[in-house]
Amino acid sequence: MTQPAISGSTRVAAVIGSPVSHSLSPAIHNAAFAASGLDWRFLAFDVAPGGAAAALAAMRSLGIDGFAVTMPHKEAIAELVDEIEPAAAALGSVNTVVLRSDGSTFGASTDGAGFVASLADAAVVPRRVVVVGAGGAARSILDALGRCESVEDVAVINRTAATAERAAALCRVGRVGDQTDLDGADLLINTTPIGMGASAGMPIDIASLRADLAVADIVYHPLDTPLLLAARQVGAVTVDGLGMLVHQACLQQELWTGARPAAEPLRRAAEAERFASESNRSPR
Ligand code: NAP
Repeated sequence: MTQPAISGSTRVAAVIGSPVSHSLSPAIHNAAFAASGLDWRFLAFDVAPGGAAAALAAMRSLGIDGFAVTMPHKEAIAELVDEIEPAAAALGSVNTVVLRSDGSTFGASTDGAGFVASLADAAVVPRRVVVVGAGGAARSILDALGRCESVEDVAVINRTAATAERAAALCRVGRVGDQTDLDGADLLINTTPIGMGASAGMPIDIASLRADLAVADIVYHPLDTPLLLAARQVGAVTVDGLGMLVHQACLQQELWTGARPAAEPLRRAAEAERFASESNRSPR
């Protein structure tokens, strides 16, 4: 579909965060707008910590239609929106804001639902789940898993026990667990940064991996984390972290424009952008 050239009626969405210069969001969202032929464009604004309220007011006065929120503003924006969806309220964290034509604001959190959608791409139906890690991303995933009918049990393993307890409480069937829970599980999800960049190590003992234990890793740099490579070696189905990123963006677009885009163009754009930024970083 042909996208109209930028004009006086072009609509604008954006991301606020700090830092945002390496964000994949502009590439992903602009690819979706282009593929759908929508007269929308997406920008990134670096907003320093403490600047969320001023940024929201600026978006309002400039007539920006919606924006994504990343670190460190997710909690502050959750306090500022006029209306908040149940998942975002449970988490106390908003990653998507819709600025309505009547001037009111609506906040949502699409991370957890985006993760669940990425499982569906790989035909993984979560039933007995082990989640490693209990930080911000884990909390959104735990909340979303609790909303999935298929999910019967979710064990949370984290190096800090108190954090694991608080995160597990967000999920309908969540509880604190340990490595032995992997024996009866059909899905393992790594939500820790272990495996990110050049970091060595595994979030679990890989002797527990089996062909019938699907493995998802939300780290997407690299795409093939050491955990996913080890899981594939024993014949397990794997789900990489780019799926979550892309699907949460599709859900954001649906909130802003009313239509959910196909995920494929967003994924291609994210992969191309990752490749370009990795090439730029490498010595010539
Ligand atoms: P976070 O809030 O800082 O939480 C990190 C969690 O990992 C905590 O539970 C922490 O344990 C645990 N952890 C950190 N380092 C560890 C280590 N060396 N050994 C054991 N446990 C460790 O971070 P987050 O925002 O949830 O992000 C986590 C990862 O997910 C990052 O790599 C991020 O890039 C990725 N992510 C991906 C997506 C996506 O769309 N694919 C979205 C969001 C985040 P303690 O509680 O003990 O500190």
